[in-house]
Amino acid sequence: MRIGICPGSFDPVTNGHIDIFERGSQLVDKLIVAVFENPSKKPLFSMAEREEMLRETTKHIPNIEVVSFHGLLNQYAIEHGATIIIRGLRALSDFEYEFQRALLMKKVEPRIETVFIMTSTQYSYISSTGIRELACFGGKLDDMVPDYVEKKLKEKFADKYNA
Ligand code: ADP
Repeated sequence: MRIGICPGSFDPVTNGHIDIFERGSQLVDKLIVAVFENPSKKPLFSMAEREEMLRETTKHIPNIEVVSFHGLLNQYAIEHGATIIIRGLRALSDFEYEFQRALLMKKVEPRIETVFIMTSTQYSYISSTGIRELACFGGKLDDMVPDYVEKKLKEKFADKYNA
């Protein structure tokens, strides 16, 4: 069985991520979507909230399993039989970061291959950071995040949306 893993902070999950899951899940028998704590980012949603939002919004993809973990991705992947890391790529700005991460992963765990899926054009401008910024000022979120996530963001920033 071919197992892939799609790691990210997903703070929160966007329609850009869902598109990568839908396409990535077709390349493997099972796709583990793994929420992890990125030490260089200060999160808006807790790990448990992010995991729950991912579960709710990926129900239509049969071979997805949502998990959260702390620690080393390479270790987690090998322990769970995953040999492919799937990441999404947007503009050139993603490349430098992803390139370094993929090479670092190859160095620490040569059995794992990192595979990139290009964003779909309609999602190329969507980032979790952008969504958080919009939401904290009460901005419109249509077509950028799943309805469930929109609801959660509006709850978080209720003072802005109900004003
Ligand atoms: P991280 O904190 O590891 O960068 P993110 O949650 O921001 O995690 O993103 C997880 C993955 O999804 C990354 O590979 C990122 O490039 C990709 N991604 C994020 N937004 C989009 C999008 N709109 N289209 C395609 N891929 C995306």
